[in-house]
Amino acid sequence: MYPRLVGLAWEAWRTGRRGQAAVGACQQARLPNLVQFARAHSPFYRELYRNLPEDIVDLRQIPPVTKPQLMANFDDWVTDSAVTLARVRDFLADKSRVGKRYVDRYMVMTTSGVTGERGIFLHDRDAVALYRALTFVRGWLPRMNTNVMWPALKKSNRLAALVTVGGHYGGATIMEAARQDHPWPFNRIKVLSVLRPLPELVRELNSFQPAQLVSYPSALLLMAMEQLAGRLQIHPVIVSSGGDWLGPSMRQQIEAAFRCPVHENYGASEFPPLAWDCCLGKLHLSADWAILEPVDSAYRPVSPGQPSYSVLLTNLVNRVQPIIRYDLGDTVVAEREPCLCGNPLPAIRVEGRRDEILYLETARGKVVPLQPTALGRVLNETPGVRVAQVVQTRPSVLNVRMEALSGADKERVWQAMADRLRDYLSAHDLAHITLVCDPAPPVRESGKLPRVVRDLRGN
Ligand SMILES: [Zn+2]
Repeated sequence: MYPRLVGLAWEAWRTGRRGQAAVGACQQARLPNLVQFARAHSPFYRELYRNLPEDIVDLRQIPPVTKPQLMANFDDWVTDSAVTLARVRDFLADKSRVGKRYVDRYMVMTTSGVTGERGIFLHDRDAVALYRALTFVRGWLPRMNTNVMWPALKKSNRLAALVTVGGHYGGATIMEAARQDHPWPFNRIKVLSVLRPLPELVRELNSFQPAQLVSYPSALLLMAMEQLAGRLQIHPVIVSSGGDWLGPSMRQQIEAAFRCPVHENYGASEFPPLAWDCCLGKLHLSADWAILEPVDSAYRPVSPGQPSYSVLLTNLVNRVQPIIRYDLGDTVVAEREPCLCGNPLPAIRVEGRRDEILYLETARGKVVPLQPTALGRVLNETPGVRVAQVVQTRPSVLNVRMEALSGADKERVWQAMADRLRDYLSAHDLAHITLVCDPAPPVRESGKLPRVVRDLRGN
């Protein structure tokens, strides 16, 4: 893998130097190859594109695809007959295989089902090599200077990742694979479950003393509060935030608590390293390898500067499961002007996936903050659930609104979800909280479905 990785890293570095036209030229050259490959090797795309002309000149000629549509046609979508949904599901059922390769070739990750149906995504060797090359050239290299490198090396480059574990989720899979594949000191990675009670996480981090801390923004904010309260005492040189929207005030609070820069990255299980922030805090999309089209609800293009309803993603590297004009569901704003930092990669803002931290009191009056990403995952990973949301309607009452998958017994799904929620709350000393199965549909905000909502207006 390493010769390939070095070649890709060199190419990514050069493209980043050669300006906007070079980035566009990469897309122009790679897209027809991808479409041609999908037509030749994926029965699903062959059928979908049967009436399209042989040569696609404009991306918008190509019909968009959705996660439910691809998942329903999984075996016809993939381009390798060794991959079938049934066999991949068997592989995924074994949690000890997180980060390992399916049929020795493919990295596999699942979405958490946060925005609806769960997706299963495989990435081939070239794709994984490219993601690592991009992470190195665009995520790691620009942050490195002597102020960062020496303190990081003194801590043996230890990296703590607070992510959802217990399944093949994106963050845990990438971190586990890196731990297994990378040479020292890039393998000093500790993956911690974000679902664990706060005092346990604090204890683990205090003893591990990471040089880098990686997590979701809301979890980082909780850690920042613990650091300010003096219970957490770590001195990372870089904090990385991903998986959710990082608001400016959140960023400031986290930076102030850890006294180090907070960097944001944006990715998805469909293309893990889509964008990194620059020195001006803008996210720069790796547009030489990924196309993101901000669109409205009818998949029409949305102008730069306007928030989109969704975005269509095209992954220009991965061949085992072609992702072409795929509805990713995030709200993204393409910046109107080139970024003043000089990076020719297009700058975007990601505004989807906003959530609140819920504050609940234990029976003894202690306030416990609950991290929305973790809470959302407890809900949405219940078997049979399509979408679910927690609405705090009173200080100690949580209403749960959910839709079950078609064919699932809603009452059973609710019982299973309530059991999972009670376990989660009990672990945080909140067993007395009342759970209500709310028949109302989940609240949507400009098309997005927040996992956690505070609505105390009735009180
Ligand atoms: Zn910039």
